Amino acid sequence: MRAIVVGGGVAGPVTAMALQKAGIDVTVHEAHPAPAGDVGAWLGVQVNGLDALRAVDADRPVRDAGFPTPLIEFRSGTGRVLGTLPTGTGGPGGISLRRSDLYRVLHAEAARRGVDVRFGSRLAAVASTPGGVRATFADGTSESADLLVGADGVRSTVRTLLDPAAAPPRFVPVLNTAGYAEHTPADGQVGRLTMVFGRRSFFGWLPAPDGRTWWFANPPAAREPAPDAVAARSDADWRALLHNLHASDRSPAPALVDATPHPLRGWTTYDVPAVRRWHDGRTVLVGDAAHATSPAAGQGSSLAMEDAVVLARCLRDLPRPEALAAYERARRRRTERVVAEGFRTSSAKAPPAVGRVVRDLVVPLVLRRRDPQAWVRDHHLEWDDPVRAATA
Ligand SMILES: Cc1cc2nc3c(=O)[nH]c(=O)nc-3n(C[C@H](O)[C@H](O)[C@H](O)COP(=O)(O)OP(=O)(O)OC[C@H]3O[C@@H](n4cnc5c(N)ncnc54)[C@H](O)[C@@H]3O)c2cc1C
Repeated sequence: MRAIVVGGGVAGPVTAMALQKAGIDVTVHEAHPAPAGDVGAWLGVQVNGLDALRAVDADRPVRDAGFPTPLIEFRSGTGRVLGTLPTGTGGPGGISLRRSDLYRVLHAEAARRGVDVRFGSRLAAVASTPGGVRATFADGTSESADLLVGADGVRSTVRTLLDPAAAPPRFVPVLNTAGYAEHTPADGQVGRLTMVFGRRSFFGWLPAPDGRTWWFANPPAAREPAPDAVAARSDADWRALLHNLHASDRSPAPALVDATPHPLRGWTTYDVPAVRRWHDGRTVLVGDAAHATSPAAGQGSSLAMEDAVVLARCLRDLPRPEALAAYERARRRRTERVVAEGFRTSSAKAPPAVGRVVRDLVVPLVLRRRDPQAWVRDHHLEWDDPVRAATA
């Protein structure tokens, strides 16, 4: 079998490695001329993502590019510790790494295994052929295969080709900016991610082994800004906004912003709560194309890694149409639940005053009673487990 993977972000190279391991010949087409840069700056890969990478023997380079982040501590805007959450159950937990490093090591590992990745190759159209699909790219070239995998992210072209009436991505009601500060707060610990529910904005900070503190902020945004308005905001605007939003918090946010030497940029984010059509028997979606999730879930890249392994195992063990149906059955419920929880978490990041007081009382109770992330994290994939159509 031959497959074309469209998109060389996270899902693309992992899917290519998993398909190759399942004996499928694969080419990856990435629109940009090189692996993408630092959009979102840095991110966490959770234990379920690392577990999926391990299933295709690709976890080591990703672990080596990041550093362990075993604990998340939640604080209120007054500085009170609301509770802690481990990122692993009895194990080492998740890791944090720069987005550009994640893309770089996944591509390097795919290349080492002989995966053919074509950069600067943007999918424009797909047509059915008697045996599969014919993909046409913006540069006029085309390629045929038995299967086309859409790993082309939240604004997926493949999703729209599968379902021209597909709902557009949904705006997540916070803005995002992030940085690397040359300062570590006095009570900072390397690998402990502190999340501050500030009075007016959410802020996260993580001391890294390189002596810097990695941070992100989520200023609230009740309405979707005009296209490009957020990208057009200047470095000075971001700094002023963050100072203003965190002025009344007991939080290291202003000091970390001041100690950040590079220009600040911002992003809007979108999720995709429910995709009607995941496949049509010869084309299938993985990663953000199938279920983009708010950054608040911390799970987008990990779910993309899981998709890659599950899809490859289904194609290894079942004829193609059944394999794609089995893949959707195995993935849809879990991923839609993570997207829904991520959206709720984003929306709760800056509640009005009354909600804030209740939240500061409720969060400690919830964290003491149960680990709300355990069901997402404690997910294990075994490469050798056979997939059966009825049970997938
Ligand atoms: C601010 C921010 C913070 C985040 N934090 C986290 C976090 O802490 N943890 C986490 O797990 N996730 C996080 N995420 C989400 C995570 O980045 C995504 O879930 C993940 O990148 C999805 O991988 P993907 O391969 O599906 O999509 P992407 O990584 O977006 O890759 C899609 C690729 O497809 C390419 N492409 C698009 N159209 C075409 C086309 N027509 N032809 C060819 N190529 C095409 C794009 O250029 C891109 O390289 C965050 C996201 C943002 C924006």
